[in-house]
Amino acid sequence: MKSKLHNYIEDLIWEHIEEELKLWKDICICDQCRLNIAAHVLNHTKPRYYATQNGYSHYVHDSQSGEQLVADVTLGITAAIRVVAKSPNHDSTLGSE
Ligand SMILES: [Zn+2]
Repeated sequence: MKSKLHNYIEDLIWEHIEEELKLWKDICICDQCRLNIAAHVLNHTKPRYYATQNGYSHYVHDSQSGEQLVADVTLGITAAIRVVAKSPNHDSTLGSE
């Protein structure tokens, strides 16, 4: 029986990144930039891990409501877009920050 840990924040990012990107003009939205944006949000948002087992997964909400998490994540995406869109980091060598 295989079980894995998954971060619910990551699910929320992929659920909402599209609608957030639509609000911006003249920014790069290639896969690399999307991943950079997602990574930035994940690094700045407290993770909410849940276990998945045989494809079945269920995130158990704690006292913080789901709507609050969505609000945090969409705000985080906006902040991440500001950082990533300002200095797109595609095709460049890692570790040259
Ligand atoms: Zn890009």
